[in-house]
Amino acid sequence: MHKVLIIDDEKDILDSLSSILEDEGFQVFKATDGKEGLSLFEREKPKIVLLDIWMPELDGIQVLKRIKKKKGEAIVIVISGHGTISTAVEAVKMGAYDFLEKPLSIEKILEVIFRGLGAEGRNKVKTEDFRIESAKGAHKFQQKTIGKSIVVYGVGLHSGAKTGMILLPMPENSGIVFEHIPDGERIPAYIDYVFSIGYASSVKGKNCMVRTIEHLLATFHMYGITNLLVKVSEEVPILDGSAIEICNKIEEAGIIEQQKGIEPLYIKEAVTMTGLSNGKSLQIEPSQSFEIDYTLEHGRPIGVQRYRFQGGKDAFVAQIAPARTFGFLRDFEQLAKMGLGTGGRINNVIILNDEGVINTELRFKDEFVRHKVLDLIGDIYLLNRPVIGKIIAKQTGHLENLALVKELKKRFLG
Ligand SMILES: [Zn+2]
Repeated sequence: MHKVLIIDDEKDILDSLSSILEDEGFQVFKATDGKEGLSLFEREKPKIVLLDIWMPELDGIQVLKRIKKKKGEAIVIVISGHGTISTAVEAVKMGAYDFLEKPLSIEKILEVIFRGLGAEGRNKVKTEDFRIESAKGAHKFQQKTIGKSIVVYGVGLHSGAKTGMILLPMPENSGIVFEHIPDGERIPAYIDYVFSIGYASSVKGKNCMVRTIEHLLATFHMYGITNLLVKVSEEVPILDGSAIEICNKIEEAGIIEQQKGIEPLYIKEAVTMTGLSNGKSLQIEPSQSFEIDYTLEHGRPIGVQRYRFQGGKDAFVAQIAPARTFGFLRDFEQLAKMGLGTGGRINNVIILNDEGVINTELRFKDEFVRHKVLDLIGDIYLLNRPVIGKIIAKQTGHLENLALVKELKKRFLG
């Protein structure tokens, strides 16, 4: 029987939480303030601590600090009542396992606790009906997650709002799932939930959406990450406009190979998208591995750029991940009028006019086409599985990429 310590100054919450957890077979200890909580922690050495952030005198962050100093194995889950991501993010950074937003739901509390204990099969959260399938036969690809929680700060490209993001390890067959803060709704990073306005790929649930997910997904794709929870407000931070910072964070957290495998999608026959507008083309054909051959044709100053991508994570990190988002000054002016693109500042987007790049040094001569490859690697991962085939693309953007993903699902995954 696991010991749980609940520290919360609201008596109602304390009582209802403890009865829920006792029903689930936990041995529960209760404290109404930080001081009492710490002394109970010393005495009982609980496996799990549910810790309210907002308490008089010794607040939750201070309690967390002291618990973490004791170098125990305790899983600390922070409870935050004010709907702001920043305190919760701070808590995770200081070693909290995860956080819960008030009002608390029984399902979420139990899901987080059982996940923390590494117990599978207790994921009761509703939108979690979404599951990825494990490979049936001998498998080539293991399912993977990250070694520990990751915190990232930044601004949204389109909203310009300050935002944070927390990536959390998930059990096998969970898939990549977004959780909206503070709403709590979960939206799978799966093609059925996708919509795009052309500038970015986004997913939408019943009440919420999460925008600009493609660079994140490209990174998960190339690291082979199949199970992950991404807590974020409405937009994924743009960071430096590329995927390299996410790669660095994932390297820090490490990758965990899980027991089960994942079945890749082998492209058995060529699929060509028809009816695309002016000069665009997109097809995928059978191949031994995942490959992209992308051609970008633009007037001055970009010209014609072609990039052939083949290989896995290392090639991605060195050649593709550092390539940044780009756009023309006139389009940013247009986007600004539409209320988008406000996060595109000097240091996170390459800005061009007809003469050339006006705000930065390029990282590669052909950085533009490499970024197109990055976006495509992200969009194609909306099938939530590796794809073995060669994509040949010219001039395409998110709209066409997503149409291809839908077609692949219809044709091969029915
Ligand atoms: Zn992009």
